[in-house]
Amino acid sequence: MEMTAAAVEFSDVGVRFPNGTTALSRVDLTIQPGEFVTLLGPSGCGKSTLLRLASGLESATSGAATVSTDRIGYVFQEATLLPWLTVARNVALLAELDGLPQREVSSRVARTLELVGLQDFSQNRPHQLSGGMRMRASLARSLVRDPELFLFDEPFGALDEFTRERLNDDLRALWQRERFTGVFVTHSIAEAIYMGTRVVVMGAHPGRIIREYDVPFGAERDEHTRYSAEFAALSSEISDVLKGAMS
Ligand code: ADP
Repeated sequence: MEMTAAAVEFSDVGVRFPNGTTALSRVDLTIQPGEFVTLLGPSGCGKSTLLRLASGLESATSGAATVSTDRIGYVFQEATLLPWLTVARNVALLAELDGLPQREVSSRVARTLELVGLQDFSQNRPHQLSGGMRMRASLARSLVRDPELFLFDEPFGALDEFTRERLNDDLRALWQRERFTGVFVTHSIAEAIYMGTRVVVMGAHPGRIIREYDVPFGAERDEHTRYSAEFAALSSEISDVLKGAMS
């Protein structure tokens, strides 16, 4: 029988910075290909450090951190777009840096813009877009490289609730279609549950994992999911754990 490697495997991982700050302590986390894991926790509990470890930008100072792919997408709260380039050129950039032939780049850009719903805005510049559309363009920039592991550092944190919920649905659809492994940081309990197959709750001082929840909802999720009794019960339980972590 063939064993499939975990997408991410952290075993007793610690990160201690030279100034003595322990950003992460004794983190055990295994993420299987195709999971969408959401990370919740107070500021300073090491969520970004955990993503940087997964991306290879940071190294563990103890334990073992293994990631099975180098096809990694990384999206931040601030849309990372070059203001002087059109949306299409912004999206093409990373594919070009990967050395793909121009024809392949063009077809990927077209497909990716369609996937994020920006096909009619390919010739616009970032300042002509709404905040939600800029975030879609930022997603497209990473998506064009066809990542196997997609890291999201609070991508929708600066958006209004309506836009955020639409992007939540669109990103879920994208994930179901493209089948990448997702690791998604958020401060919103509702977003963590709605988006995740698993919610990982972290605590600070030192940053660590304190609880994990398998999300009991399947692939089909919509606004009824958000207002269900089961959703409310899980939110309330996670809220109590988070409050405990902050006190
Ligand atoms: P979060 O994303 O959960 O807010 P971070 O991963 O950014 O947390 O940071 C975790 C802890 O590590 C915080 O106390 C932060 O101040 C500290 N930290 C982050 N980066 C560095 C660094 N390069 N040097 C020293 N301390 C750092």
